[in-house]
Amino acid sequence: MFVVMTVGASEAEILGVKGQILAEGLTPFAHVSGGRTTVAVVGEIGARKPTLIERFGRLPGVASVTPISRPFKLTSREFHPENTVIEILGAVIGDGSLTMMAGPCSVESKEQLFETADAVKAAGATILRGGAFKPRTSPYAFQGLGVQGLRFLAEARERTGLPVITEVMEPSQVDIVAEYADVLQIGTRNMQNYSLLRDVGRVARPVMLKRGYGATVEEFLMAAEYIVSSGNPNVILCERGIRTFETYTRNTMDLAAVPLLHRLTHLPIIVDPSHATGKRWLVKPLALGGIAVGADGVMVEVHPNPDAALSDAEQQLDFDQFRDLMATVIPLHEQVRAVYAGNG
Ligand code: PEP
Ligand code: MN
Repeated sequence: MFVVMTVGASEAEILGVKGQILAEGLTPFAHVSGGRTTVAVVGEIGARKPTLIERFGRLPGVASVTPISRPFKLTSREFHPENTVIEILGAVIGDGSLTMMAGPCSVESKEQLFETADAVKAAGATILRGGAFKPRTSPYAFQGLGVQGLRFLAEARERTGLPVITEVMEPSQVDIVAEYADVLQIGTRNMQNYSLLRDVGRVARPVMLKRGYGATVEEFLMAAEYIVSSGNPNVILCERGIRTFETYTRNTMDLAAVPLLHRLTHLPIIVDPSHATGKRWLVKPLALGGIAVGADGVMVEVHPNPDAALSDAEQQLDFDQFRDLMATVIPLHEQVRAVYAGNG
C-alpha cells in the first residue's frame, strides 16, 4: 500500500509515518513527486490490510492510503511516475537518449577486447559490454576468463572512457564484479536467483536485469522488485527474447513488452537483439524494431572476427556491421523520439 502525504507535510510527519510502518514490522520507501511524498509500505501485509489502512490513515500529515493490487510496488509507475534516469561515468540511461551497449559476448583476450572497445567507441557506443564469467549451456564450452577478464574490462574503461557492463553469476562474485565493473548484469538464467538479486540490491552499482527466457512480464518486474527493495533503485531492464515454439530464431523477441513495461514501470528498458535472435543478419532489423517501440537502448554483441568467437559466434557483428547499425539507429531514434514526444 502507499501512504500519500499531504502536499507540504512536515519532515516530522513523514518520519512519524515511517516509524509507524517500521513498528508494524514493515519497510517504508519514500518517493517525492510534484512536491508530494508517497511512502510505499513493503513487506508481508496479508490480512492486516484493513487495520493498517485505517491506522496509517489517522496519522498526522497523511492525505490518503491506497491499497495497491499490483504485486510490484517500488518498480511501479504508480509509486514513481517519472522515469528513472541512471548516470554512469557520463553515460545517461533513461533520459530519452539512445544507450548503445556493445562489445564481445566474452572477453577472450586483452587484444580482442581493446580492439573491439576502440571500434565500438569510435562508432558511438556509450557502454562497453563483455562477459568475464560466462553462463554456458555446456560445461565443456569456454567459461570465460573470470577475474582476468574483469581486469581487462577495467583497463578498457581506462583506455576508452566507456563504462563497462559484465555479468555476475553468483552471490560469491558480487563484490569482485562490483569492484571492476560499472554496471552489473544479471543474466536470463539467473533472473529468479533471489539470493543473487538481493545481493546486487546491496551494492552501489546499477544493475541490468535480463528477462528470464521463460518469465512473464510480471515475474520480470517482481525480480526487479527484489533488487529495488533490497536498497538499489538503479535497475535497468533488458528484453532479450523469450523461448517460444519457434526454432528459426534462438528466442522470440517480445517487442510488445517494451511499451508495456514503459507503462507499468519507471525503469529504463534495453533490448538485446543479439541473444533474442541468435543470428547476425537479424540483429539490425530487431534493433530498429526495439527502438521503434520505445526502447531506451540496445545491447549488441560485436567481435573483431565473429566466426572465430569463443561464444555466440553466429550472432556477433563485425566492426563494419556495427558501424552500419549505428548509422541506421541514430536517425531512427531521433524520429522515434519526436513521435513519442508528440511532434512527429
Ligand atoms: C550475455 O549478455 O552475455 C548473456 C549471456 O545473455 P543472456 O543472459 O540474455 O543469455
Ligand atoms: Mn552472448
